[in-house]
Amino acid sequence: MRTIKVASTGGFCFGVERAVKLAVSALRDGPGPVHTLGPIIHNPQEVRRLESMGLKMAGKVEDVSVGTVIIRSHGAPKEVVQDLKAGSLQVVDATCPFVNRLRDRVISLGEEGYQVIIVGQSDHPEVMSILSYAPDGSLVVQSVEELAEKGSLRSRVGVVAQTTHSIENLQRVAAYCVGVCSEVKAYRTTCQATQTRMQEALALAREVDVMIVVGGRNSANTTRLTEAAGREGTPTYHIESAAEIEALSLPVDAVIGVTAGASTPSWVIEEVVQTLQAQ
Ligand code: SF4
Repeated sequence: MRTIKVASTGGFCFGVERAVKLAVSALRDGPGPVHTLGPIIHNPQEVRRLESMGLKMAGKVEDVSVGTVIIRSHGAPKEVVQDLKAGSLQVVDATCPFVNRLRDRVISLGEEGYQVIIVGQSDHPEVMSILSYAPDGSLVVQSVEELAEKGSLRSRVGVVAQTTHSIENLQRVAAYCVGVCSEVKAYRTTCQATQTRMQEALALAREVDVMIVVGGRNSANTTRLTEAAGREGTPTYHIESAAEIEALSLPVDAVIGVTAGASTPSWVIEEVVQTLQAQ
């Protein structure tokens, strides 16, 4: 008989839940139409649900002429925020407070004259937003190796990380900087919600035969959960929805662990669990 163990921490984090609630309120209260700049969260199923309620997506501010614009939980580049504030559109800022805290760290490091090193994915919207607040000469790297290759460190550096990045990698980059720079200021800007999910996913992966990680393929933290659970030696599958379960041909007597990224809604997780139970 199949046993299913569901991680208690999987699914919406505080920042994503807040962004979705703000979007639903904007759709109710207007003025319409209501647009987000890019997908409001990295979960196609939840984005489609909100679109069915009337939410629209715009690529850039110029694409919206009337109504409301929502800044998503990842935030937006400085110039975009300035344009929005100067314009006539209603603006709902759903930037996660933890992303704003990271932004404020970067601004203060710049004011204090530090070169800023952001540990994270350069093409992630949160990092693109944060980099726009960083002083000239700031760098985005994913690893110590990448930083060593870039080789343009100044004597005073400030180190921060994308909120969903691994704390271990932030520590490695900060330690490398201590070895080559005369002054290093590092902030632990990684989000506790991400770390808690990661710890529980790793513990669950060690207990079960198979791990299922539910979340958008465009979700950085879901991808990291999948990679980390797989490194525990447990067969691990990243799926977006229950529709993908049948193709996995999972054994009927396996113990299956289920967790989810921070942008996966509970209704998608429940559908996955119900489908696993019904097989
Ligand atoms: S993962 Fe953390 S920083 Fe990112 S939206 Fe959620 S609570 Fe905010």
